[in-house]
Order: sequence, then C-alpha cells, then structure tokens
Amino acid sequence: MSLTSLQFDNAFVRDLPGDPDQGSGARQVYGAAYSRVDPSPVAAPRVIAWSCDMAAILGLSTVDIANPLFAQVFGGNGMLDGMQPWASNYGGHQFGVWAGQLGDGRAISLGEVLIAQGERLELQLKGAGATPYSRGADGRAVLRSSIREFLCSEAMHHLGIPTTRALSLVLTGEWVERDMFYDGHPQHEPGAVVCRVAPSFIRFGHFELPTSRGEIALLRQLVDFTIGRDFPDFKGSDETRYGDWFADVCARTARMIAHWMRVGFVHGVMNTDNMSILGLTIDYGPYGWIDDFDPDWTPNTTDIMRRRYRFGQQPNVAWWNLSRLASALAPLFGDVAPLQAGLDRYVDAFAAHARNHIAAKLGLAECRDDDVTRMETLQSLMQQAEVDMTLFFRALSDIDTQSPVLQPLQHAFYNDAKREAVEVDFLRWLSDYVGRLHEDPLSPEQRRQRMHVANPCYVLRNYLAQEAIDRATEGDYEGISTLLEVLRHPYEEQSGREHYAQKRPEWAKSRAGCSMLSCSS
Ligand code: AMP
Ligand code: MG
Repeated sequence: MSLTSLQFDNAFVRDLPGDPDQGSGARQVYGAAYSRVDPSPVAAPRVIAWSCDMAAILGLSTVDIANPLFAQVFGGNGMLDGMQPWASNYGGHQFGVWAGQLGDGRAISLGEVLIAQGERLELQLKGAGATPYSRGADGRAVLRSSIREFLCSEAMHHLGIPTTRALSLVLTGEWVERDMFYDGHPQHEPGAVVCRVAPSFIRFGHFELPTSRGEIALLRQLVDFTIGRDFPDFKGSDETRYGDWFADVCARTARMIAHWMRVGFVHGVMNTDNMSILGLTIDYGPYGWIDDFDPDWTPNTTDIMRRRYRFGQQPNVAWWNLSRLASALAPLFGDVAPLQAGLDRYVDAFAAHARNHIAAKLGLAECRDDDVTRMETLQSLMQQAEVDMTLFFRALSDIDTQSPVLQPLQHAFYNDAKREAVEVDFLRWLSDYVGRLHEDPLSPEQRRQRMHVANPCYVLRNYLAQEAIDRATEGDYEGISTLLEVLRHPYEEQSGREHYAQKRPEWAKSRAGCSMLSCSS
C-alpha cells in the first residue's frame, strides 16, 4: 500500500441522504446526514508530526509521509482518488441544554479507507476550513489545540483506552485569530490541521437532531446504517437489533468512562455531540489530566462555575448523555423497556469495570466489597493531602508489605503541611492495605506486574503538553515527537525520561494551558 493506492469506500455519503445545496454557506440542513464540502486550501502546508503507528495501520511508510503530496492532502490542498469530502450533520445537548443543529463546523471527512477484510477507517481533517455547519466561525484550528488533540489521541490509545486516533499534524502557514479566554484580547496564532482517524465519527447528536425535527424516517435510516456498518454482528428484527445495539453502546460508553477514571482523564466538554456511538474518546478540546487527586477539578474555564464536567461527575454525565440518546431513539421503539434495560446495563457495566480497575490498581486478584470502601478511603485521603494520582498509584507497588512506611510515596505529595496533617491516617490505611494483601493469593511479582499495567508511569500531564506547545510556537517541533515517543509506552519505566514522570511543577499550577483551558481552539 502507498499513499496513492489507498482504497476508499465512502459508505456514509453513498448510503445516506445528502444536502442538495452546495457550498460552505451557513445554513440549516434538513432531511440530510451530511453536506458535501471541500477543505479550503492553505498557504504552506508542512507536516510537523505524525504517528508511525497510525500510518502503519493505513499501510503508509516514511516515504509516503515525506511525499509532498501528503502535506498537500492532509493540509487540505488536494485530494486522492476516491476521496469525497463531506461535513456531517448532527445536533447536541451542550452543558445540559438542547442546542439544535451543530454539525461538523471545523471537521471535514475525506473518505473511508478500506484496511482489511470488511474493516474501514474514516480520515477526517480538523481545522480544514468552513462548512455549512460553521455557524459564522472560520472552521480553522490553532496549533496549540491541534498539538493537544494529536498527542492525546495517540496517548489514550497506548494507555489502552478507546479513542479516535491521529495520523498527522500539519502546519498551515496561515494565522488564525482567537480570543483564548473570551476576554476581549484576541491574538493571531499559527493555524494547523490534524488528520483524525476512526472507524466511525458518528455521535449521539447524529440521532438527536432528526428526532428533534420529527424526521423519523431519517432517524431510522441513520440507525440502520450505523448498525449495518459499525455493528454488523447485530441481526434480527428491528426492535431486537435496535435494543441490542443500544445496550452495546451503553456498555462501550461504560468501559470508556471507567478507563478515564482509572488514569485521571477529564474530558472537559462532555456534550452529547462529543459522545461517540462507538464509545471512543472524541473531540479533544479543553481536556485535562488530574495531577493532585481531586474529583471536583475541571480543566474547562467555561465550566468553572457549575463544574458539570468535573472529574468525579463523568460517570453520571455519561449516563445522562445516554438517556438523551435513548429519548432520541424512542420513536423507533413500541415499548421503551429495551432502552431502560440499556441504561441499566450502563450502570452495571460501569460498576463491573470500576471494580476490576480497583483490583488492578491495588494489585489484588479480585475486588471484594471491602476493597471498594478501601479505595474510597484512600481517594478521600489523597484529596485531603493533595497527592499526585499518577505518581502515587505507580509507587504503591513499592511499599514494604511487612512494615509499610510512607517513604516510597513521599514524592507524590504536593504539600508538606497537608501531608503531615494526614500522615497518621495514611499509615493506618497502609497497614490495613498490607493486611489485605496478605489475604490475597497473588505473589509479590504477580502483584507488581498487575499494578504496573493498570497504573501508568507517563500520562500527558497538562504542563508537558504545554511545554511541547511552547517549543513549537518558537518553531521547534521536536518536543512533540519526543513526547509522543514517551507516551507510546506509558506503562514502562524509560531511563533518561524521568522528566516526563514528575509532579506538576509550581509554575504550572495556575498557568493558562496547564490548568485552565477554554473551548476556544
Ligand atoms: P466543540 O466544542 O469542539 O465540540 O464544538 C462545538 C460545535 O462548534 C461543533 O459543531 C463544532 O464544529 C463547532 N465549532 C467549534 N469551533 C469552530 C470553528 N473554529 N469554526 C467552525 N465551527 C466550530
Ligand atoms: Mg465537538
């Protein structure tokens, strides 16, 4: 396979109704799942980072990436044979409120590549210019957000978390104006385009929009299409298929959220248009990673007052989003019992995953009810004492199981006074924990291994991404590739890369981009 021999089969535009109107002018699009629209050309596309793992899946080599055609196509200046660019049409609930039509305002899909027997991957450019869904905005993306999306997509994948992927990061050679904190201080920033990759970019909002407009035939068409293309195992009568499918979406969402909670990922803007039907983490915007363990933390400045999307709230928000999807699908069900059963499945699946993660994080063969309490007690101590989540769990496998002391965990504490205040409680917890370990059948070596594949050493800490962004803004793009290289093996200690496995430095605590992010990107 090479760049020019990629095989496309664009089922989304072939099998679903499209918008009869042309061009990128802003409009309401009724009765259609997409609008055909071309990317807007850019001045000087230049590939500044790419994922070798994603390229390999597509059958692309270093030679293909270096081919000037690659920068042209993935910067939005050209098409490969078989590409049929489109922007898809969806709605969504934003911050709990129905927002009507949203759609791909700055994303343009290029086509669906056939990669293996029946498998396909959609290539989508983010930041490639205006579409009918741009609602007056420019359809562009800035370099800082594009670096964050590129790195986090790949980092999540290597952590074993379902996610959309990223193939490439292309600098456009153009400037984009953004008011980062909506405070009347717009700045010109370098523009960039990320090529995202996923089997499907269909969101909950794709189903909500037709139902909100009474377009039930389109709703049914979208559901049949999604099941047929993305969930081919579900067969049988309509109601059986639809019910099984919805329950599967619920189970996938539960799995994704449980993983987020395991590693300390906060999405930041879990609107229903940002929820993938495949249960993939999608739309990396004002996301963040937990440094000191704090269930109330949100990285999104737009959400700072109500904290709807705070870390600890994510499991509940996902349920609420699924309930919006259930309402959207209700017109296809004579009896809504299967939809209720799907939502119950979410609750059960989430609890089961969460228990597995508790056992793995603590290095236990199984999670007993008292282990759930044990983890809750630990988390409450971590919150009180300001303890770094990633460092703490990674180091927990190093404690002395005969007479535990705090020493191996010391470096995870942010604040000495707070540590001293809870030291006695921590020691009590540790002594209870080692008592529990003695009742567990795993050998010390098995336990260590189990903990090391559940507790990463490296995550994309907000300030690490910001360091790469700062360097890139100065024209040095090496920091992006180096960080990606570290994040490709998040569970392995990498010698010489200690810098990437450290506590958030003091300067990053309140710096924009490190702890405060906005939707402006
Ligand atoms: P997001 O917050 O990224 O999920 O975006 C919400 C909606 O706003 C989606 O319909 C986006 O396509 C649209 N949007 C966000 N930023 C832009 C932009 N710069 N230009 C056009 N549309 C945008
Ligand atoms: Mg979005």
